[in-house]
Amino acid sequence: MDLRKISLAQLPGVGPKRLESLMSLGITNVYDLLFYFPFRYEDMEAKSLDEAVDQEKILIKGVVASEPVLARFGYKKTRLNVRILADNESIMVTFFNQPWLKDKFETGTDAAVYGKWNEARRSLTGMKVIDVNSDDSIDSVYSVNKSIHQKTLVNLIKLAFDKYHDQIETVIPEHLREKYKLLSDEEIVEGIHFPKTETQSDEARRSAKFREFFLFQCGLQSIKREDNQDNIGIEEKYDQEFIQKFIKSLSFQLTEAQDRVVKEILADMKSNHHMNRLLQGDVGSGKTIVSVIAMLASVTAGYQTAIMAPTEILAQQHFDKISKLLTPLHIRTALLTGSQTKKEHNFITSDIREGKTNVVIGTHALIQDSVDFKNLGLIVIDEQHRFGVNQRKAMREKGDNPDVLAMTATPIPRTLAITTYGDMDVSRIDQLPAGRKKIETYWIRSQKVEQMYQFVTKELSGGAQVYVVTPLISESEKMDLKNAELIYDKFTELFGKKYKIGLLHGQMPNDQKESVMSDFSAKKIDVLVSTTVIEVGVDVPNASVMVIYDANRFGLSQLHQLRGRVGRGEKQSYCILIADPKNEAAIERMKILTSTNDGFVLAEEDLKMRGAGDMLGNRQSGLPEFKVGNPINDINILEVAQEEAKRLYDDEALNNDPETKALKSFISDEYEQLNNFD
Ligand code: ADP
Ligand code: MG
Repeated sequence: MDLRKISLAQLPGVGPKRLESLMSLGITNVYDLLFYFPFRYEDMEAKSLDEAVDQEKILIKGVVASEPVLARFGYKKTRLNVRILADNESIMVTFFNQPWLKDKFETGTDAAVYGKWNEARRSLTGMKVIDVNSDDSIDSVYSVNKSIHQKTLVNLIKLAFDKYHDQIETVIPEHLREKYKLLSDEEIVEGIHFPKTETQSDEARRSAKFREFFLFQCGLQSIKREDNQDNIGIEEKYDQEFIQKFIKSLSFQLTEAQDRVVKEILADMKSNHHMNRLLQGDVGSGKTIVSVIAMLASVTAGYQTAIMAPTEILAQQHFDKISKLLTPLHIRTALLTGSQTKKEHNFITSDIREGKTNVVIGTHALIQDSVDFKNLGLIVIDEQHRFGVNQRKAMREKGDNPDVLAMTATPIPRTLAITTYGDMDVSRIDQLPAGRKKIETYWIRSQKVEQMYQFVTKELSGGAQVYVVTPLISESEKMDLKNAELIYDKFTELFGKKYKIGLLHGQMPNDQKESVMSDFSAKKIDVLVSTTVIEVGVDVPNASVMVIYDANRFGLSQLHQLRGRVGRGEKQSYCILIADPKNEAAIERMKILTSTNDGFVLAEEDLKMRGAGDMLGNRQSGLPEFKVGNPINDINILEVAQEEAKRLYDDEALNNDPETKALKSFISDEYEQLNNFD
């Protein structure tokens, strides 16, 4: 019996109101309810604010320090603000669109909140409130909701289990369950919700993890196969000679790795199957030019092409560079961003619609409804982890199944990349352009900041350009700005007579940002004091010194991204981390950074150090959130699950096996959901 077809109304005591509240948790049928598993334990250990890392998830415990304030804005949107006193610091916690949580906070009482940390604002974007008063052990925390308490939910699960337990069908084929000693689905559900012993709970979790990863991987396999069969892609018959000439005309020679990935991409584009390719390469490895070659190929085949970047600064930079390369070849480029006037927008989009523009460079403004292409052949998504799955999907839908090239520097270790991006082919640039020197990285404590000034003096006199990144530690954005301005003032005082100092921050109007960036590119600015708006993609090869204040406030990968803004030219480059880390983990981060430049080594270290952390959290949005499994800690299970899923889909002999059939039909029903993960 398919429990997904049984309404929750079949359970005693469940009326329309309860149905609605269950629905708001995403529980729509008996199956959903039984498989509504509690949170992972490892996510739920409270941490001190010292350990908080920007943009990562954390559980914070403290005391409610202010009356919660609920504000409404936009269409049906709400914002709930409450101050929590944790570690002697009052931090702002904001929940979006969960107005019912207001009742959860009472001034002076204990509170535990799980959410995403914002270092700049010293604030938390709340995701979950953990009921600190419940006597349930912390490893059985279920998501709470306004009208459903944890207890009620567990009682309902119990009711459903008692009534339907013998109808829970196991989806994992017998031969796999034997091979890996996995429990049946009935045993899993029981062992997770109502374990009698720790062993039973552990066993259930292990099986549930495999089940979760396996079903996910089967979903990817089925998407991939569907992609290759029905989704005949575009055959882009590009002009090989033209492309070769273009490559020869570049001011540098492609590295072997670039050459290899160009071949991989072009072969995909030429074939009639739909390209869905991830281009990975460490910061500075030269992904942009690879994408430009692919775009050029698409244009010579008679198609339009678009590249989407996550920030206006980056889009502008791409536009400048790409136009410089392609305009002389009579290829028409256009820039499309959200800050353009309506008139500009209409003008640009009409050219795109009519097919007059060949290459469109833009931000997420590209996915607006008002943007239509005549014949989109290829889309490039730069810094793809910065976009949500839905944004990437919206971009794809701008054409008739265009080829997709997604680029990222996010150093996801190979195994993890392949397993979690199972539906994509991966190309990798594993080599930096020749002549690049290792960026020398130093860590100093803030009391030694004079040494940094001296060093900067010396470098400036040698013609270097310098980035100074400030971390924005303060309570409000206005204060952040002041922080950057303070440092700007200091640098102006010290170096302003001889050198030009610039300031760049997120709240500046776009045209002003652009002019500062272009002045820095043109070496009209020597020292650029900036917030982290320069974190991704920015490319000014003459810049060779990166100073990062309060570096302990950033995560490893963010620091690596920031550092990657230098070391892009021939000059010896330096990165100076100013940090007074207060805990072991932060000290370790500083040490690792000074010891290696290799993004992949850093990622591995990051994994080892963090273990339970959620490297795959928001930062890499686009990866699925697993309920029981943790793709990092449970990488072994994930790999096995992937292998088995592949085998299942590859093995023709298994196709007629009733168990396989049942599984595949189960998967195809779940298909929509898998397709929409975000
Ligand atoms: P990323 O992979 O971080 O996006 P970019 O594409 O911005 O890197 O390239 C970094 C810099 O290296 C750019 O200034 C680019 O022009 C230069 N570059 C790219 N490929 C090569 C090469 N093969 N030889 C020398 N310089 C290169
Ligand atoms: Mg880039």
